[in-house]
Amino acid sequence: MSMILNPWFGKALTIAGIIVTVAIRVPHDGRSAKVPVVDSRKGTLEVVLLALMSLGIFVLPILSIATPFLSFANYPLHPMMFGAGVACLGLNFWLFYRSHADLGTNWSMTLEVRDGHQLISSGVYGRIRHPMYAAIYLYALAQAFLLPNWIAGPASLVTFTLMFALRLRPEEKMMIDKFGSAYRDYASRTKRLIPGVW
Ligand code: SAH
Repeated sequence: MSMILNPWFGKALTIAGIIVTVAIRVPHDGRSAKVPVVDSRKGTLEVVLLALMSLGIFVLPILSIATPFLSFANYPLHPMMFGAGVACLGLNFWLFYRSHADLGTNWSMTLEVRDGHQLISSGVYGRIRHPMYAAIYLYALAQAFLLPNWIAGPASLVTFTLMFALRLRPEEKMMIDKFGSAYRDYASRTKRLIPGVW
């Protein structure tokens, strides 16, 4: 039995991942956009981080799949990597969908508080404070496992780690400014990304 898989298995699932992500996000974006924003903290840093995210999650993967540009960085797809990628992608689909459903129209692409913003602390938000970011990490891991290319594979892990590291504090500060002790209490009984760990 061959120890490597046809890389197109990984590429096809990466494309499926992009399509499902967009299919979950776009209708949600439409619903949230109808609720006015009352506090926006979208500075230059956020704009740069969002652009880097698109590069890691869409541009580099699509370039590596559809063009020979990054082919110098290709490596063989191992069945174990493929299996790990499928597992991470499946978990991501579930958590990405659940976190959008639970957050409702309180969701924003960037750091914003909306009119009548509610503090969500149940559903997947009952265990961790950043389930959507946890889902994006699962997606980034799936991409790294499924796309056998040293540049496009880990691209989202790199760009999202940067975004997460620079956004976490300002986002929690914004929630404390808005909800005060209610958010502090919520933070004291939940972890950030991994239930029971951190
Ligand atoms: N960090 C969260 C939400 C990502 S969307 C997660 O990973 O699941 C980003 C927006 O969600 C922020 O602009 C903020 O307004 C909003 N937000 C974050 N946590 C929230 C909460 N517990 N309840 C309501 N809105 C929240």
